[in-house]
Amino acid sequence: MHHSPGRDPKDLPSSGGRQASPYDQDARYGVKRGSGWVGYKTHLTEVCEPDVPHVVVNVATTAAQVADNELIPFIHARLAERELLPDIHLIDSGYTGGELVVASRNCYGIELFGPAREDCSWQAKAREGFDSSGFSIDWHSQTVTCPQGKTSTNWAPWRTKAGEESIHVDFAKADCTPCPVRTKCTRAKREPRQLTLHAREVHQTLQRNRAAQHTQAWKQQYALRSGIEGTISQAVRGFQLRRSRYPGLAKTHLQHVLTAAAINLARIDAWLTGVPLATSRRHHLEKLQTAAAA
Ligand code: SF4
Repeated sequence: MHHSPGRDPKDLPSSGGRQASPYDQDARYGVKRGSGWVGYKTHLTEVCEPDVPHVVVNVATTAAQVADNELIPFIHARLAERELLPDIHLIDSGYTGGELVVASRNCYGIELFGPAREDCSWQAKAREGFDSSGFSIDWHSQTVTCPQGKTSTNWAPWRTKAGEESIHVDFAKADCTPCPVRTKCTRAKREPRQLTLHAREVHQTLQRNRAAQHTQAWKQQYALRSGIEGTISQAVRGFQLRRSRYPGLAKTHLQHVLTAAAINLARIDAWLTGVPLATSRRHHLEKLQTAAAA
């Protein structure tokens, strides 16, 4: 990415406010999994129940810099308008977040089903029980007990910049300073252990989902989502989804909707004529071996 000479990158407008192409005023610079591009982002939602055609039921198009998880409320609102809300919505890891899972459940009765973000604190990575899951929380009395059995001394609710409820918890210096396992619990030189918690419902949902996602039942359920990867691949390879034919967000969205309609027609035709759903792609050599063996 190029910056204007003499301007500090921090003085530049956010990527959402910065035009990225002289040919298209709506296009923006976006990055995902280390790859950057200028333009747009598409979010496809499809049916993945067995015994029905796997049609695309929603197409959302945004400028490239918009984060995936910002789209979930809009997608649910669009599905609700058309009475197409599912009981379970299988999602990519980019769309998960404890707050979103709780909001989807409370607003629409939907279970957002996808990989829960793991706790990325150094205590969690060390796996020695000093991350938040190793502390027992009494939500009623607003106290937390640490792995050494000490009780917190401060419980302070606050809101993050994004408006999410959070709780700051402190332990006592008198407990943490002489603690025999202190170095496994905090890296602070003198200060006692502090903890940041999500709001109760979000915290409990996250802990439950983090544990569930390692089970076989969870993996089987999530495997149903693999179809959407095939759809995206079909849209990109067969219909050049990643090439905007016309400038502007509105026309690019129309292109995406028409692409989804074409995919749907092909799928409905396949379903009516009894063509089975495509299975995983096989390597040419593997196909040749099968052909040679036939
Ligand atoms: S450092 Fe403090 S909070 Fe951590 S285990 Fe020891 S006493 Fe408990």
